[in-house]
Amino acid sequence: PSGESVCLCHGGGSVAVVLRVRPPNPRERAAPSVLHVLNQRAVLFTSEEPGGTGTGPGPSPGPGRRRRSLEFEFDHVFGERATQEEVFEHTTLPLLDTLLAGYNCSVFAYGASGVGKTHTMMGTKRTPGIVHLATVELYKRLERIKPQPDLHVLLQVYKERVYDLLKPQGPLNVWEQPGKGVVAQGLSLHQPTTPEQLLALLAKGNKNRAQRSTKANAASSRSHAIFQIQVKHWDLTGGPSRGLRVAKLSFIDLAGSERAWDTPGRGEGMWEGTSINRSLLAFKSVVRALAGAKGGQSHVPFRDSKLTLLLKDSLVGSFRSTVIAAVSPAAPAGPDTYSTLRFASRARHI
Ligand code: ADP
Ligand code: MG
Repeated sequence: PSGESVCLCHGGGSVAVVLRVRPPNPRERAAPSVLHVLNQRAVLFTSEEPGGTGTGPGPSPGPGRRRRSLEFEFDHVFGERATQEEVFEHTTLPLLDTLLAGYNCSVFAYGASGVGKTHTMMGTKRTPGIVHLATVELYKRLERIKPQPDLHVLLQVYKERVYDLLKPQGPLNVWEQPGKGVVAQGLSLHQPTTPEQLLALLAKGNKNRAQRSTKANAASSRSHAIFQIQVKHWDLTGGPSRGLRVAKLSFIDLAGSERAWDTPGRGEGMWEGTSINRSLLAFKSVVRALAGAKGGQSHVPFRDSKLTLLLKDSLVGSFRSTVIAAVSPAAPAGPDTYSTLRFASRARHI
């Protein structure tokens, strides 16, 4: 076996998109559900349109229409009862071999605030998320590789500026260096030698993310968190892929996708809103451009935001990427759910 297995979810493409529906929270329990999981690949969304006052991002009410049902397809659908392990096994586990074969891999969590992005990525002590599960599994695999691979960890948060979450310092400059790719200048590199050390770094970074958010008087859902594990190893097994393999596994907990353009207020709050929105919009256009690219050339607008620029090297050349779109099933979240379903199901055609 060559070890070159590639995520089955991707079916030959480069980006897989899965949907995770979280259970209704206590506030939503009385509300009707607008999302029905049909099977492991499809959901039915029912939009309720009372009186046609809605001007949000939801479907505009057509003449004489009150209710309509739309089916959306994904590479996989995780229902309310899906466990963290199931999500991990279908989204991230297959990427580990791909990573060790030298491909850059990334997992994005996309969706409005409160739909379970951070829960899916980080989870809780009792139900650790995909980053934790991936870390444990990755170290198991690395142990089997001789000579021992180098592993580096980078952790950064992007709001209107890029900060290192593992080293207190001012915002970092981001630029593209010929031959080196895109770098956040001065970003600290860490070399944890055990999964425990890596997870401790992650916990520290998350704490800093939360603190930084409080300081800036904004919820952490308004920033993008980027967590990257770089693996460098010599493949001495021979064959055509023999040589130094360097690849990055990136986890991106994106800022909430809800109507950021409606951010009320002035000054920093407003600027932050527009800036976060710009990078989310840029992320969406990059994904759409990749979806359209398939073999032909199409302009991929990486330069439109720092977020997409930072992730450029993970989205060009040989890469595998999984977008986990997260939604609430409850009616009050309908407009956000609809826009997430629309974006995510279209992003599949890559
Ligand atoms: P986001 O990061 O998208 O803003 P969170 O991950 O913080 O949302 O989730 C919001 C709340 O819902 C948290 O209290 C979280 O524990 C809970 N939650 C999210 N997804 C699930 C799930 N699949 N099962 C149980 N609780 C969940
Ligand atoms: Mg979050």
